[in-house]
Amino acid sequence: MSPLQSTPSAKLVRTPVSDLPRYYLDYAATTPLDPRVLEATTPYLTGFQANPNSLHTSGREAFNALEEARHGVCESLGAHDPSEVIFTSGGTESDNASITGIMAARKSGKPAHVIVSAIEHHAVLEPARRLSAMGHKVTYLKPGRDGLITPEMLASACTPDTALVSIMYANNEMGAVQNIHDLAAVAHEHGALFHTDAVQALGKCPMGLEELGVDAASFSIHKIYGPKGVGILYLRRGTPFVTQMPGGGQESGLRSGTQNVAGAKAAAAALVLAENGRDAENARLRSLQTRLVEGLLATSSRVRLVVDPREHPDHYLPNIIDITVDGCESETMILRLDSKGFEVAAASACSAGSLEPSHVLVALGIPRDTAFGSLRISLGRQTTEQTIDAFLDAFPSAIR
Ligand code: PLP
Repeated sequence: MSPLQSTPSAKLVRTPVSDLPRYYLDYAATTPLDPRVLEATTPYLTGFQANPNSLHTSGREAFNALEEARHGVCESLGAHDPSEVIFTSGGTESDNASITGIMAARKSGKPAHVIVSAIEHHAVLEPARRLSAMGHKVTYLKPGRDGLITPEMLASACTPDTALVSIMYANNEMGAVQNIHDLAAVAHEHGALFHTDAVQALGKCPMGLEELGVDAASFSIHKIYGPKGVGILYLRRGTPFVTQMPGGGQESGLRSGTQNVAGAKAAAAALVLAENGRDAENARLRSLQTRLVEGLLATSSRVRLVVDPREHPDHYLPNIIDITVDGCESETMILRLDSKGFEVAAASACSAGSLEPSHVLVALGIPRDTAFGSLRISLGRQTTEQTIDAFLDAFPSAIR
């Protein structure tokens, strides 16, 4: 057990998650497993589980459990048909499969035009970079200083050759939420398909996929209090797609590999919990976010918000606060806060050993020097007012 886990302040945890560190404020990176998700999953983890593709009785039982989970996911995500739901290993796989699989299905062998936003996760940017290496033209569409991409911005980037547009629903660093419905409509008007990385939006933003009108979407279950290594790829019926995982033909030939029935069950359970409590939890998080933002701004004039979620709350996630602190480096702040038991993140690639500032902050026009002093604080179900106040007490010593 880590020293953090043995402190008496574990009392601050709102619902019991016994091994959560004392002041965990990195929910955008991952969330703790909800005990109710574990309970729903346990029968499929313990005891013998047959291969859901086997024809015998045990195999058919496993298949039925898998399909029941697929129906549940379809309903929670507002998809039209369970066949549009493909289980994957996470957000990264779903993003890669969408970008690469849709482009591989193009009938014409001619290079095409692809638009991705400049603030995408690397799970979208990297496959886009590969498309460019293959000869396709890739436009990296920058948002405004507020982190938002308007339909007009997208329309002016589209060309008659645009085959695919990928714009994330909610950003993982500064929390901007895009108007996916209208952006997808613009892509379609220009004859392009539309994918959205909805990993951070899941459980926070309305998810009626059929109504949103997207052709493909990516999800990750560990961001909504489910296990890691479980994801969903939504492919609207009729979306041209060539599998990136050929093999035994599972998932209707769209993603081969013996399915993770327990993971699928966990996804269905985590989604029901996230959707049922969404409005109340969003309101609770929003008030914690405002408390934190106001406390941080009052601490020092060196603290600046990357975007201000208070201005247009509908355009920003309620659980992410991204700041920069003049004269302080992210890593120093993270380590100082960590030594006091607060676990936060930097909105930069420094975790990967890179000396580059966050591409998201740079895309917003934030100077590189300022971007090196970024800090992302992300809240979740176990965050309380006391957690925020304790963080605000500790913060001045981290930026001294
Ligand atoms: N997309 C976004 C926006 C994310 O925040 C993440 C994870 O941080 C991913 C994709 C990758 O998801 P996974 O960790 O399930 O591969």
